[in-house]
Amino acid sequence: MNHDRDMNQPGQGWLPNNTNKTKGMFQKKIPGRDLYQALFNNPEEAIIVFDGLAIVDANQCAVNLLSINRNQLTGLRPSAISPEHQPDGSSTDTTLESKIKLASQNGSTRFDWVLQRTNGETYVADTWLVTVRLNDKNLVCAMLRDISQQKKTEQHLRNSLQKLSLHVMQSPLAVIDWDTRFHVIGWNPAAERIFGYSEEEALGQHASFIVPEIYHELVDGIMRDLLEKRGGTRSTNDNITKDGKTISCEWYNTPIIDASGNVLSISSLAQDISDQVRYIHALQHQAHHDYLTGLYNRNWLIERLETWVRDESRHSFCLYFIDLDRFREINDTLGHDIGDELLITISKRLSEHMHLRNYEVARLGGDEFAVLAEKGNIADISLSIMDTLNQPVELSGMSLEIRAGIGIACYPLHGRDPTTLMRCADIAMYNAKDTASNYVTYSREIDTYSPERLTLMSELSSAIQDNQLRLYFQPKIDIARQKHVGYEALLRWEHPQRGMVLPEDFVPYAEITEMIHPLTAWVIDNALRQWKTWHEQGQHFNLSINLSTHNLLDDRLPQLLAQLLKRYEVDPTAIELEITESAVMHRPEYAMTVLKKLHDLGVLLSIDDFGTGYSSLTYLRQLPIHKLKIDQAFVTGMNTNHEDRIIVQSTIGLAHNLGLKVIAEGVENKALMALLDGLGCDEAQGYFIAQPLPIEKLEHWQYK
Ligand code: C2E
Ligand code: MG
Ligand code: MG
Repeated sequence: MNHDRDMNQPGQGWLPNNTNKTKGMFQKKIPGRDLYQALFNNPEEAIIVFDGLAIVDANQCAVNLLSINRNQLTGLRPSAISPEHQPDGSSTDTTLESKIKLASQNGSTRFDWVLQRTNGETYVADTWLVTVRLNDKNLVCAMLRDISQQKKTEQHLRNSLQKLSLHVMQSPLAVIDWDTRFHVIGWNPAAERIFGYSEEEALGQHASFIVPEIYHELVDGIMRDLLEKRGGTRSTNDNITKDGKTISCEWYNTPIIDASGNVLSISSLAQDISDQVRYIHALQHQAHHDYLTGLYNRNWLIERLETWVRDESRHSFCLYFIDLDRFREINDTLGHDIGDELLITISKRLSEHMHLRNYEVARLGGDEFAVLAEKGNIADISLSIMDTLNQPVELSGMSLEIRAGIGIACYPLHGRDPTTLMRCADIAMYNAKDTASNYVTYSREIDTYSPERLTLMSELSSAIQDNQLRLYFQPKIDIARQKHVGYEALLRWEHPQRGMVLPEDFVPYAEITEMIHPLTAWVIDNALRQWKTWHEQGQHFNLSINLSTHNLLDDRLPQLLAQLLKRYEVDPTAIELEITESAVMHRPEYAMTVLKKLHDLGVLLSIDDFGTGYSSLTYLRQLPIHKLKIDQAFVTGMNTNHEDRIIVQSTIGLAHNLGLKVIAEGVENKALMALLDGLGCDEAQGYFIAQPLPIEKLEHWQYK
């Protein structure tokens, strides 16, 4: 080696001597020492000079890149400044040797070289080997540029693109790209699933191919907006599939814009929300309609009365309550199917005749109907109702004579709010039945006269003292585990003369007086005591207790419950209080305060008869509830009615999304149980599992 060479003065040892006639390409390109020096000292380009496989020189930039003292570089082999092996597994020295050989043959070669700093850190350098002839020696200059960052960015980009394309391929959403004239340029598998067209069929089509004609203008507007305003849009509209089916879709469209602000393309995400739309329509319909007859229901009537009362242009109107005579008898003797058919026939007749006169008809439950009439003569209207009903009804080869009692309340004479008006019409109707009159208009005199109610009420207060109330328990099972997990406590009145009275025949009476409070207290006391007995016997069940609307307006209830939980040492999380949607909606703010206090005691809250009330899921979300109990009307209908099945299925889905559990009531047969199992419903209750049973019968009952 030339001893004149001084590595402390880079480029000194191997600089071309102008007086020496050096040969080779380098010499031709670098005619002078100064130019070579300038190149060698270039701060941007790292240069290492090799003689064979040994390093003989390096510029400052290379020293920085390698982070090694220049003195230590002399004589080193490539493997001293790189990992021993390159990523393809080859030895660094062997690789460099072959690259140097290649450069010597071809004049130059370029490749990626993985190097290593003294601190162990590795990096990739874009390496250009060039042969030079200096001072009569064939040397190789390696020009290095650290491209680790670029490599990382490239890898990152590759990963992102791979991930993105995976997402697009697997996305449940349709991912569609359009050119600026709204022709399809991208169409993923979900788009094919939703719209039915394969990618091949869709590419190049104009957007209108999946839009029904009536929406063309609307969609044109959305497209214009996208191109002009360059912001994302969200829309819900109908689309049409390849086989001509109309579906509802939700669309999110985003223009893709380049650096100079030009729209390059449009990217859209779409999902088929037909099921949700159907579900919402069904719920809305269900919230305001009676499931058996299709007439409006009580909720609708209350809302309509509220609107009419608020409407200042409406000066007067009348509410007619109609109760069929002997319906219970017909139901009991001829069976519920005939009873149902009768109700359907009567409903059809009433609605046909009343709608001719622009009157509204609703079914309030059981055999009770209401007619809302804006104007007209009370006697005329009542008689026309009677006429409609009195036509014999032919059912199963029998001709049934229908009579009814009608009670009338007028706005504003008898009341200025829905509750008062309904109460007055109700009282008038009971009076009509008691006095066997065809119709009775409300008056103060008849209000005090309600013997049926008064007797029941006075008897009810002594029923508690005389120990005539009983709790029956209906088992609840965990569907997935097929395991008995709890009970619902259901109230019964063992009346000395009337026999067994069901809650629907006395709870409503208790609700319109203060009686509901001692009644609820009795139920909670006895239910919790029973829980303690089970607990002491080593049986760990959860227990549901029903609350009424009025209980939610009673702020003494949480305190009472707290005392009883303590007295019977009950685990509050084993107790579930069932409330109905309408109970909460009656006076939401007030009910919310009581609900929060109950929730703070640790007991669980569930919504009973879900689907029959206002069904505002947004509102329900604000409540501290943990379970929905799907009303039996939907559950029993599931086997035969597609709409019911959709409601149950969607309710389960939505409830689970909101983190709520779902129990189905009214499970009357094996098929329903299997359906619910398939839909992922958590719990079930119903006659298929067991009827509500008195405690002595429960001891012999076992699930399966
Ligand atoms: P709920 O809470 O929805 O109770 C379910 C009702 O459905 C019970 O009627 C039960 O006997 C009945 N049931 C259970 N399985 C089936 C089935 O498979 N098919 C059919 N068709 N019906 C089934 P029940 O015991 O007559 O109670 C009626 C309503 O009275 C209850 O409805 C609840 O709202 C109210 N209630 C019962 N006990 C109490 C109570 O202690 N306090 C209050 N405030 N209300 C109560
Ligand atoms: Mg219940
Ligand atoms: Mg229920």
